[in-house]
Amino acid sequence: MPALDEKLAVLYEEVLQRNPGENEFHQAVHEVLDSLGPVVAKHPHYVDAGVIRRLCEPERQIIFRVPWVDDQGQVQMNRGFRVEFNSALGPYKGGLRFHPSVYLGIVKFLGYEQIFKNALTGMPIGGGKGGSDFDPKGRSEGEVMRFCQAFMTELYRHIGEYTDVPAGDVGVGGREIGYLFGQYKKITNRYESGVLTGKGLAWGGSRVRTEATGFGTVFFVDEILKARGDDLDGKRVVVSGSGNVAIYAIAKVQQLGGTVVACSDSGGFIVDEKGIDLATVKEIKEVHRGRISDYVERHPHAQYVDHTSVWSVPCDIALPCATQNELNGTDAGLLIANGCSIVAEGANMPCTPDAVKRFEENGIAFAPGKAANAGGVATSALEMQQNASRDSWTFKHTEDRLAEIMRGIHERCLATADEYGSPGNYAAGANIAGFTQVADAMIAQGVI
Ligand code: NAP
Repeated sequence: MPALDEKLAVLYEEVLQRNPGENEFHQAVHEVLDSLGPVVAKHPHYVDAGVIRRLCEPERQIIFRVPWVDDQGQVQMNRGFRVEFNSALGPYKGGLRFHPSVYLGIVKFLGYEQIFKNALTGMPIGGGKGGSDFDPKGRSEGEVMRFCQAFMTELYRHIGEYTDVPAGDVGVGGREIGYLFGQYKKITNRYESGVLTGKGLAWGGSRVRTEATGFGTVFFVDEILKARGDDLDGKRVVVSGSGNVAIYAIAKVQQLGGTVVACSDSGGFIVDEKGIDLATVKEIKEVHRGRISDYVERHPHAQYVDHTSVWSVPCDIALPCATQNELNGTDAGLLIANGCSIVAEGANMPCTPDAVKRFEENGIAFAPGKAANAGGVATSALEMQQNASRDSWTFKHTEDRLAEIMRGIHERCLATADEYGSPGNYAAGANIAGFTQVADAMIAQGVI
């Protein structure tokens, strides 16, 4: 990782010591501090007032036991987390992840990123994240429901529409949000719509929330292209993953005239030179919860490769939409050699620091997740607005708001990168713009 400014290096060393073994969290903190050199040179009070130090320590970290009974009558036990990272701009806001890899370091990296991402949206939301090491794969409907109920039986006392508003993430979609909301309502005897986002349309959800992260990422790419006098028409795109973010990124690329030739899951990837048939992917993943390898049974001209790195497939635009650290320096080298000119992170921190460095050195437009995938949380904030006003907006109105928000984030990243001497550097622009807004609010609110 690149060397930090002297004062920031001291703060980073303290983060390493206070949070041993939390590698993903260290990586996320380093990535932000790496952009802040010119900021502290110009405004030393951010260090002197202890703002950066406080920003790297969550306001509250909750860890709890989640006991539940499986279909065989056996008692199972998981661990639950909610990290309420920063509330300078509004109630803590961020998703819940259910995946066996979840531990405190993953939740903290995601919560930390969320602070700056939420600031960039321009909406009044703070940063938080949560989840569990529960693995929903292979579990029955009844087991998933009982787990969600057990999880909410503890979580309910920490959340609320003015306190902390969770949503979905990996392993937590509409089904899980339904069970979580039901249990919250039963325990509290309150129909508090604004306590969770990602709800079903019939009971307080927002149109476009399901599509928002993938759509938003592609809107951001469209803005990058527009700034160069170009558009998506005829562009060749590779997407990783085939979950919520990937599916709706593929949909929007196709709507705007691009061709997605490859996508993946944790088992391998498919290449379809005619363009991925999204209806097949949706049926495999959303209906049957199956494997992406099943795609070639219905499209024999396509190819399945039993390897997770899809980045050897040549493309103009790469959209990593699967998981953290899925695109490394070698993958970046392959993309660059094959003529890729734009990389936008639909997932959170999918590109390793080495990959990002190679993109920067080679003039690739790199859109970091905290900017490019902010459309999901922005639309969650739109859901909160609709809940607060007991309203329900049309698809078009909501999608137009999302596109406008993504345009705003793009402009803000570019303007801030210019102001701090890194023109065209979206990562620097996103980190600095998000940081300064949160830091100024923290200073105004005193040492709390
Ligand atoms: P999801 O619906 O659970 O989908 C994740 C996808 O990634 C699945 O297809 C999964 O495959 C695949 N995957 C996992 N590890 C992989 C690997 N090593 N290589 C290739 N594919 C892999 O989750 P999601 O909601 O789309 O979230 C994806 C990413 O976007 C995460 O980083 C999340 O934090 C971020 N994000 C999500 C939202 C949102 O609104 N959902 C908002 C902002 C950011 P399997 O099916 O085999 O597991």
